[in-house]
Amino acid sequence: MKKNSLEFQRRPVSRRKFNRLLGQGIAGTAMISSLPLSCAMGEQKSKEASLGVALVGLGAYSTYQLAPALQDTKHCHLAGIVTGTPAKARRWASKYNIPGPNIYDYDSFDDITKNDDIDIVYVVLPNSMHAEFSIRAAQAGKHVICEKPMAISVKECDAIIEACEKASVKLGIGYRLQSEPYTQEVKRLVREKTFGAINFVSADAAYQSRGNPDQWRLNKALSGGGALLNMGVYSIQSAIYSTGENPISVNAQEFSTRPDYFKDTDETITAQFEFPSGAVGQIMTSHNASANRLFASCRNGWFELQPANSYGPLSGRSSEGRIQFEHESQQKLQMDDFARHILEGTPNLAPGSMGKRDMIICEAIYASIAQNGKGIDLSLGDMGIVR
Ligand code: NAD
Repeated sequence: MKKNSLEFQRRPVSRRKFNRLLGQGIAGTAMISSLPLSCAMGEQKSKEASLGVALVGLGAYSTYQLAPALQDTKHCHLAGIVTGTPAKARRWASKYNIPGPNIYDYDSFDDITKNDDIDIVYVVLPNSMHAEFSIRAAQAGKHVICEKPMAISVKECDAIIEACEKASVKLGIGYRLQSEPYTQEVKRLVREKTFGAINFVSADAAYQSRGNPDQWRLNKALSGGGALLNMGVYSIQSAIYSTGENPISVNAQEFSTRPDYFKDTDETITAQFEFPSGAVGQIMTSHNASANRLFASCRNGWFELQPANSYGPLSGRSSEGRIQFEHESQQKLQMDDFARHILEGTPNLAPGSMGKRDMIICEAIYASIAQNGKGIDLSLGDMGIVR
C-alpha cells in the first residue's frame, strides 16, 4: 500500500480531503473514527497512510540525503519534484518513477494545488528563496517543510508562518537533529536534570568551504549570510537544547582568516549567551574551520556529543559513560515525524516558531557584531522550544 498513490485514489474519501480534515485539527484517531465515512480509513491510517512529498530544488541535499531517505520513510514518500533543469527532471523521473504530471518547474509550481498526489512541499532551495516557495506552497494548500535557515530575515519567517496559518497547513523546518536519538537523549538529560543544573554549554558547528567562490552560499543575496545562517543555526540549536532554555542576551564577534575567499559573507563567528537560569553558553561557527561538537558542564557531571550535528552516526559521552544509539537516517526520522504530525497529531518537533526564534537570534548576533560585541537583549520566553 505504501508508495502506491493509485490505491489512495480509489478510496471513497480522497486523500486530499482526508488531509485537509487532518490539517484543520481533526487529527486524532478518535475524532476521525467518529466521522461516518472515515471509519475504515481511521483504522487503516496508522498502518498505511503515506503522504506524498514534492522536493523543490534538486541540489546536493535533495539528491544525496532527502530522496534516498524518502525510499525508506514509512509515513511519506517521494511523489513529485520541482526543478528548473529539464535534464534533472528526466533523470529523477526515471530513477524514482515519478509520473510526468508530478513534475513542475518554478513557473508551473503553483499548479501543484490541483495535484492530489502531493501533500507536502519540501523547500530545498538557496536560503533567499525559502520564503517565496514556502508561501506559494501554503497558498497551494500544501503542508510545508522549509529547509534551515528558515529564511533570511525575521520578517520573512513571519510571512511564512502567516501564510501557513492562513491556509491551515502545517509548517516544519528541516531541523533533522530534532528527530534523532542523541539529540533527544540530550533533551532528556536536561529535562530530568540527570546531572543537575546546567552551568555552561559550548557548541561548535563549522566546516572548511573550499569550493567554487561563486557558489550561492558565499553570495549574500542568495544566502542571507555566511557560516552563521548555514552551520551557526546548529550551534544555536545545540546551546538551546543543552540548557532547555532560550537565551536572554547575546554578545558576538566576527573574525576573518581568509578575506580573499569570503568577500561577501561572514566566515567565522563566536557568540556568548546568557540564559534565564544563570547558565552561560558559547558558540563558534565557521566556513573556514572544522568543528562538530556540543559540551555541557552541569552541577553534578557533564555530557557531550562529538560529532554532534553531522548526518551521523553521532557519538556521545557523559560523566557516567558512553551514550550510544543505533544509527538511522536522520532525514528519514525527520520526514516521518512531520508526516505523523500531520496524520496523527503528534508534536511538531521543528515548528515555524523554532525557525523564527533562531532567525531572531541570528539577527541579534549580527546586530551585536555591528556594535563591536555589545550585548543584545532577547525576549524569547519559551518561543520555539519543543521539550
Ligand atoms: P545546492 O546548491 O546543492 O542546491 C541548490 C538547488 O537550488 C539546486 O538544485 C539549484 O539548481 C537550485 N536553485 C534554484 N535557483 C537557484 C539560484 N538562483 N542559485 C542557485 N541555485 C538555485 O544546495 P543544497 O546543499 O542542496 O542546499 C539547499 C538548501 O538546503 C539550503 O537552504 C541549505 O541550507 C539546506 N540544507 C540543509 C541541510 C540539513 O542538514 N538540514 C543540509 C544541506 C543543505
